[in-house]
Amino acid sequence: MINTIYIEQEIVDHPRTLEICARFPDATLISCGHYGEIFNRKAQNFRLQKENPAMILAKKHNHFLHQAPPEYGIGGEYHYYFSHMLNCIYDCRYCFLQGMYRSANYVIFVNYEDFQAAMQEKSKEHGDKTVNFYSGYDCDSLALDPVTRFTAEFLPLFKTLPNSWLELRTKSTQIRGLLKMEPVPNCVVAFSFIPAEPGRDLEQGVPQLERRLEAMLKLCNRGWKLGLRFDPLIYQPGFKKLYQELFETIFSQLPLAAIHSVSLGVFRMPDKFFRNIVRLYPDEKFYAGPFSSQHGMTSYQRDLEQDMMSVCATQILEYIPKSKFFPCDDAYR
Ligand code: SF4
Repeated sequence: MINTIYIEQEIVDHPRTLEICARFPDATLISCGHYGEIFNRKAQNFRLQKENPAMILAKKHNHFLHQAPPEYGIGGEYHYYFSHMLNCIYDCRYCFLQGMYRSANYVIFVNYEDFQAAMQEKSKEHGDKTVNFYSGYDCDSLALDPVTRFTAEFLPLFKTLPNSWLELRTKSTQIRGLLKMEPVPNCVVAFSFIPAEPGRDLEQGVPQLERRLEAMLKLCNRGWKLGLRFDPLIYQPGFKKLYQELFETIFSQLPLAAIHSVSLGVFRMPDKFFRNIVRLYPDEKFYAGPFSSQHGMTSYQRDLEQDMMSVCATQILEYIPKSKFFPCDDAYR
């Protein structure tokens, strides 16, 4: 429930601002100059704010698209991610957002038209090469879809950009919007999973695995292309069996033809964010795991990381062909 909405003066009359505010008639509306005044304020506590986040409606002025890290690819030549929203309604202990931002408030950039213009331009610039646009980097792509109407507003664009793909990365079951429209052939709805056992503790608020699978089946029956994202891989004793069971559960239910791509990567996070998170949740057992720091990134110790990648890659390739497999390190293809 949103009790407070901050609104940048510049977009106070934007139709999307009015639509979003209308969904929360009891919320207190507060005008502000720039969203950073609220979002980047010092002396905020992400953990406390997460209990009752406010919403901030803002305008993004530049940097609509960012080059995606090379390991992010799912085929194609060019890769960009974008964030129409910052922060997430879920609360995953391994999520980098809690280490990156001071605030847990949700920022929604309402000027979708400017994101779309940037996508059109990039698509055109790359001619007949394939361009992937990834949503869900700084938020969950679908979790707030009934409020943001993100899919209804962005997917029609992709019907006009045949060389481009949109990946919607999610842990949500908010698929009503997608089920109402015709499937868009160059869109991948990509669901992330970790095994249920660590998931119960580490993914607060995330719909249960079975419900996400049900959502995937509904989408697949309507003709949507699906992605599977086993990223981040999470270690705990017995991980081989836990992941084996997870893969068996998922691949035994989803038709291979509906699976567009499967990606794989171990937990990793910039050291600075990791330190921030440990300060926020000093009692969290997960952070006391077998981690080490290399080149400014915290991840599992090298041997363990290689073992996890290798075991999971082998198991996944029992279910899918290599052409659909995109591990974050090519050594495991
Ligand atoms: S669902 Fe994704 S974005 Fe949301 S808290 Fe979990 S890891 Fe972070």
